[in-house]
Amino acid sequence: MYRSLKIFSLYLALVSIFYFYTPTSADGIDPAPGLPKSGQIIPFFPDGTYDSRIPAPEDILGCEMGAKPCRYEEMVRYLIALGQSSPEVLLQEYGQTYEGHKLYYLIISSPENMAGLDQIKAEIGFLADPRKLSGENQAKKLIETLPAIAWMAYSIHGDELSSTDAALQLAYQLAAGTDTLTRKIKQNLVIIIDPLQNPDGRERFLAQVQSFSGNITSWDVNSLQHNGLWPWGRGNHYLFDLNRDWFALVHPESRGRIKSILEWNPQVMVDCHEMGPFDTYLFSPPREPFNPFWTSTIHKWWKKFAQDQAKAFDRYGWSYYTREWNEEWFPGYGSSWSIYLGAVGILYEQAGVQGSQVKRPDGAILTYRETVHHQFTSSLANLTTAANRRQELLSDFYQEKKSAVQSKSVTTYIFVPGENENRTKEFVQTLLMQNIEVKQAKTEFTASDLTDIWHTQFSKKTFPKGTYLVSSAQPLSLLVKTILEFDLRIPSSFLADERKELEKKKETKLYEVTSWSVPLAYNLDAYRTDGPVTASAEPVTQIEQPVGKLENPQAAYGYLFSYGTSGSVLAVARLLEQNFKLRVAEKPFTVQGKKFQPGTILLRISENPAQLSSTLEKLAQEYGIEAFGVNTALAEDGADLGGNEFELLQLPKIGLLANSPIDFTNFGAIWHLLDEKLKMRATTLDIDRLAWTDLSLYNVLIFPSSWGGGEEYARQLGKGGMARLKQWIEGGGTLIAIGSAAAFVADTSSGLSQVRLKEQVLDSLSSYEAALAKIDSVETYKIDTLDLWEPKESSPVAGKKESPEKAGPSDSKKIKEADERARLFLPRGAILRVDLDQEQWLSYGAGSKVPVLVYTSNAFVTKDPTLTVGRFASQTQLRLSGLLWPEARQRWARTSYLTRESKGKGQIILFATSPNFRGYFAGAERLLINALLLGPGMGAAIPLEW
Ligand SMILES: [Zn+2]
Repeated sequence: MYRSLKIFSLYLALVSIFYFYTPTSADGIDPAPGLPKSGQIIPFFPDGTYDSRIPAPEDILGCEMGAKPCRYEEMVRYLIALGQSSPEVLLQEYGQTYEGHKLYYLIISSPENMAGLDQIKAEIGFLADPRKLSGENQAKKLIETLPAIAWMAYSIHGDELSSTDAALQLAYQLAAGTDTLTRKIKQNLVIIIDPLQNPDGRERFLAQVQSFSGNITSWDVNSLQHNGLWPWGRGNHYLFDLNRDWFALVHPESRGRIKSILEWNPQVMVDCHEMGPFDTYLFSPPREPFNPFWTSTIHKWWKKFAQDQAKAFDRYGWSYYTREWNEEWFPGYGSSWSIYLGAVGILYEQAGVQGSQVKRPDGAILTYRETVHHQFTSSLANLTTAANRRQELLSDFYQEKKSAVQSKSVTTYIFVPGENENRTKEFVQTLLMQNIEVKQAKTEFTASDLTDIWHTQFSKKTFPKGTYLVSSAQPLSLLVKTILEFDLRIPSSFLADERKELEKKKETKLYEVTSWSVPLAYNLDAYRTDGPVTASAEPVTQIEQPVGKLENPQAAYGYLFSYGTSGSVLAVARLLEQNFKLRVAEKPFTVQGKKFQPGTILLRISENPAQLSSTLEKLAQEYGIEAFGVNTALAEDGADLGGNEFELLQLPKIGLLANSPIDFTNFGAIWHLLDEKLKMRATTLDIDRLAWTDLSLYNVLIFPSSWGGGEEYARQLGKGGMARLKQWIEGGGTLIAIGSAAAFVADTSSGLSQVRLKEQVLDSLSSYEAALAKIDSVETYKIDTLDLWEPKESSPVAGKKESPEKAGPSDSKKIKEADERARLFLPRGAILRVDLDQEQWLSYGAGSKVPVLVYTSNAFVTKDPTLTVGRFASQTQLRLSGLLWPEARQRWARTSYLTRESKGKGQIILFATSPNFRGYFAGAERLLINALLLGPGMGAAIPLEW
């Protein structure tokens, strides 16, 4: 998890890891007399004695530990051998990755503890939920007798290699060590080692770097032996950063892991990483900003653990540091998420050498074995602290849980299922997976002093039966408040520092997004109130998706279903790929007494094969949708079903661009949506080969965001590629471009789109403002009948600023400077409100507004004939959550988020930022799904086949 402060882009950090140099590095400096020289092989645990019946890693791996990074299969062989050789080691499987790699953890403890594991687990569970205890005496007894639980997690980033090998060495030390310290650790702790959290990523990266390794090791960090190739190994199979998924729980690795962690309720949790090769070693504590819900306890423990860890490093003269760039504001890291469980979350960052050796700026060679040794030493130091302070750890853990359940300051979160019940249920499922207690109202109830996710306040509101309630008065109170709070605010003391850093150094101190609120990401009908809510409600233990059905299967004319639910999207995808003919209503209508909204799907019997009814019946059940058979095309109100207000959909034939310089996380999020969620056939296309790929095979092309800005796309495509792309769009293609790819399409030099980057049209901004004023006036225009028939000279005219004057040269300079300054204060992962034009098909099923995550310096402006489907809200309504400086508020308010424009027979759809950020922004994700599923039929005129 390399963290750099020197860059603007969140994503750039991932590719820049080799270019940063820390001059304070002292690993290569000759240590004091008597200390080992860098590069000199010293035992992992000097003076250690071992039980010879237990295999050492080298017995199974076939080489010395640290000589090379172990492959997944080698690791598994060792874990199995260790499990079989000792009653003090238990190997457990906890999940499986997308690529079929099984995920394991090892439990290691003393023979006495191993004999009573189930009881230990249950009794730690009592301390974790004091409501289950008989009283203080029972708590006291448990704290005196129970071992504490230490969860040691390694290599969640697959390209950070040293930690998995260190985990194996640690497992060996604990299983085989016969010395006093190792025995003490096992008596006082149950140690759980998760040696490899992301096998898919590690295997991908190892295959790359090993294929570029030869007889002679390259010490040069520019070598492919160190770098590997796109998409490297940080992410999992779909290239998601699993160390951002701890509460979003999009992936099987996270789901399996947290289930096990929540069963064990650890008091210590270590998360082990690597950073740039010229750095040294970092461990907790972090620096500001601190979560306002943290108590002084976590700070106390970070200090204690750090003191012992420092001593362990000082013994060898190794360099290290704490705080500096490390902050834990974002709760989706292993080291931060575990704090909200009541554990002491600890982060390690070792300078990485990608399994070989690196020559550092001071001339010293850092070897892989040394990096493994540092990680091993850190872990052993942390376990020593925990073993020495077992009772105090357990006692603090219990006290924090006790105050959580007994707290007088309660916040209640309320979630109304609404039309898209599937999505609310998916959200509740995510909470249940984290052991968060959720209740469901058995009857209607009323609550007061409420705020919704849009910051609207209600003095009183009545909620229907079936509404979900989450109270913060529960053992996981901290987690509840941290991930559900709509607008958790960064402490002012940090803001002052951040502002100074931006002004003086043009750098940010923030490492990650500043907002993540899960109810906002899901765009739920959600409310919060400070205080308990009185409602007759029962605990939710499991979620069952809504049951769907097809009403009137023997209909005479056709079938209809709403496009509002998550299930309906899947049904549309399945029907399209089976060649059914689907139409989409563009206007509201009423038929057979039922009202239908724009976006409603119509399947006419005359246009479809005979098995339509049976297929629809099956899909309705599978996806929980309510479908209706209609016997007539005649509407009682609105559009008749046989007319032109029902547009015919086309099967999307999707090409998704991949390869460098595309941001692999944005590519991965779209790929995951297509492949895993929608289960749609799509082709991943190499951007390098796009210029000579036969584009006629596709009717949708997706350009994900890229690193290095939009210019990278221009460079990759070249003149030839641009010409072919233009021709393809004009022939009926739908181009969807996201983030910096959208900036490329909107760049004046591309000649593709009429959307513009704000910074490129500063001199003529007034014409865009006039266009916006005209749109607003269309929405708000009140017809003055008197003025209409008897006009006066001064009557207001809509959009009268249509002939703007150009800014003069001195104004122009000032405007440019102000814009450049505003870009410095860009939204750093803030959640902003986007208002949708509900008459546009791109917004069907998405509601009237959506929260989107914004981390960009690009702002887009539009005017006729481009349609702005999604527009950032006005200044006062723009910020929903996270940090948005006034400069940014001014610059981004009312700019375009989602645009659509026709070009020839085709169309261009631009998203200012990724709508399905990290795969859990289900609200805005709907806009992308619409572009993919509806795009080829609704916005493009594909030539008829004959
Ligand atoms: Zn990492």
